[in-house]
Formats: sequence, structure tokens, C-alpha cells
Amino acid sequence: MSIRTTTGHGRRFDSILDTVGNTPTIRLNRIAPEHVNVFVKSEAFNPAGSVKDRLALNIIEAAERDGRLKPGQTVIEATSGNTGIGLAMVCAAKGYPLVVTMAESFSVERRRLMRFLGAKVVLTPKELKGTGMYDKAKELAETNGWFLASQFETPDNANIHESTTAREIMADFADTRLDYWVTGYGTGGTVSGVSRVLRRDSPETRIILAEPANAAIVSSGYTNARNDSNQPTESHPEFEPHPIQGWTPDFIPFVLQEAIDKGGYDSLLKIPGPDGIAWSRRLAAEEGIFVGISAGATFAAAMEVARDAPEGSNILVMLPDTGERYLSTPLFEGIPEGMDDEELAISKSTPTAQMG
Ligand code: PMP
Repeated sequence: MSIRTTTGHGRRFDSILDTVGNTPTIRLNRIAPEHVNVFVKSEAFNPAGSVKDRLALNIIEAAERDGRLKPGQTVIEATSGNTGIGLAMVCAAKGYPLVVTMAESFSVERRRLMRFLGAKVVLTPKELKGTGMYDKAKELAETNGWFLASQFETPDNANIHESTTAREIMADFADTRLDYWVTGYGTGGTVSGVSRVLRRDSPETRIILAEPANAAIVSSGYTNARNDSNQPTESHPEFEPHPIQGWTPDFIPFVLQEAIDKGGYDSLLKIPGPDGIAWSRRLAAEEGIFVGISAGATFAAAMEVARDAPEGSNILVMLPDTGERYLSTPLFEGIPEGMDDEELAISKSTPTAQMG
């Protein structure tokens, strides 16, 4: 095998913002069952490390285009992290001040990352769950005349997945069938936007949606009450806290409702949090693919699909973010700082160690 070479992009990027999207589709070679082809689309390749860079960029640019966002106006959003980090990256690049509200239960590195990117982070009590940080963002927007990004309601969310994520998937599978596409949901932007295109241009593709086993709010069949602005007015009765950060808030988002109402998925799987963690660890340790808990949970759903899939099926799994975002979470629990017995044995295996 000769040495690898690279070609460059053949262009110079005018801004970090031009590097959002076009994430790679990657074959798995070790942990997937042999009778199927499993591919992952790794959104960690986005400049701020998650799928939400796409949405953040479009929320700001769509609002710039139609005048809802004025030059220098402060942007505000309630977010468990990735949207905030994406917005912080976009706002830093374009020069808008950003304030993020966030429940104190989310990982510490997410807050610090946003602050590092120049944002202000306002914490809300964990007892008030997702709706608490959401109400606070709304109140701050109304009080101060700030631009509320509204990721859970805005059409700018699913639209960007229709115009980017879905086009990338169609292009990457242009020369072969895509039998299954597997995703989770947070706002539902990914599933609502991509399913528009798959239903139209790739009707043979089965769309698999996954949610946490202990917060299976879509499976429950109960739809949230919403106000005139499509914002939730209650916490979903079937919601329970779950470890899959970025998935399933404590209400059914309006953006997700489109996929529910228009048949945007074929089956709905319930994934226990520990399965997500276990698969994320295996993706890292056995495939070198370093991603977060929701990625592991989506992969867990794909492995269920793979079990019953016909020979030779092509399965594509969305991996929403990088694993570096989870150093202080259960994903890294039990990963020691000091040497374990095996490492000590390695250390002691040289002559100098034995003499000492
Ligand atoms: N996983 C993670 C880690 C996320 O941050 C998000 C976005 N909230 C998702 C999955 C789900 O993506 P979407 O909002 O497009 O449904």
C-alpha cells in the first residue's frame, strides 16, 4: 500500500461558516453485522462539532434575509448545548451578541464552550426542566427586544436539513440503494427536513426514528398542547429525565410534529440510555469514531434494524455530535485517570522498571 495523498479543497473558504455541512458518510468495518452495510454520517465534522451548526447558520441567515434580525441585535435561545455552541460560532463569525438559557443539569463543558465562543449563558433550575429554560428565553427576548432563535418552532430548522443534509445523503447514495435511514430527534429538524426529500426522491428508503425508552413521548400518542406561536404550554406527561442529551425534550416540538403528521417515519424505536452509552463507547474503541451519547443511541436503533434487515441492505445512521462534549457525563464514567492493572504491567515490562 503506497503512502496516502490528499488534494485539498481546491478553493479558499471565505469564512468558517462556509465549512458547515458536507459531512462524510463513512462505512463501518468492524462492529456491524456482516450481512448488511452500515454507514454513518458524522456530524462531528461540522466546524463547531455538531449537526446543529446547520440550523444555527440558517436561523441567523434566514432572519438576516427577511429583516427579522437587525445588525448588532442580540440573539437569544434556550438550548441544551449544541444549538448554543453552533449559534455562538455563527454569532462570533458575524458579530452578533448571543445569550443562551440552559438548565443547570446539562454538561458543564457545554456551558464553558459557549462562553469560550463569546456567548453569555444564563442557567435555569433543573427542576423546571426544558420548559424552564425555554420560558426564561422567551421572557428575556420580550423584555429586551432580542431576537429569539426559536429552534423548536421555526421553519428555518427543517428547511436547512431539506436543503443540505438530505441533498448530501441523496448524493452519497446516488449510485446505490439506501434501504434504511436511522435518526433520533431533539427538535425534529433533522427527521422532518430529511424525510421530505427521502419520501419524494427515495421512496424505497425506510425511515427509522428513535427516542429514549423512558421518555417515549411520541410512542405514547399524546400530543402536547401548544399556544398560537406553536410553543408548548405543558410538560409532556410521559417525559422522564434521560441520559441522551440533545434527544427528546419534555414536550413534542412543533418542528417534529410535521414528521409525525405527514408520515415522515416508518417505525419508532425505544432506546434505553445505557445502550446509547455502550454503543458510543464501541464506536470509539472499535471503529475510531468518536461521537456522543445520542449518536450511540441512534446506532443502537440501527443495530436493531440490522438484525432483521435483508442481506446486503444499506443502512445509514445519523451521528449528531462529537464525544468530546461528554467528558463530565456518564459516557466517560469508569474511564480511569490513573493506570489500571494492564497498564501497570506494561509499564513494568521493561528492564529499567524491573531494576527499579
Ligand atoms: N443529538 C444531539 C446531541 C443534538 O444536540 C440534537 C439536536 N438537539 C439531536 C441529536 C437531534 O437533532 P434535531 O434537533 O435535528 O432533531
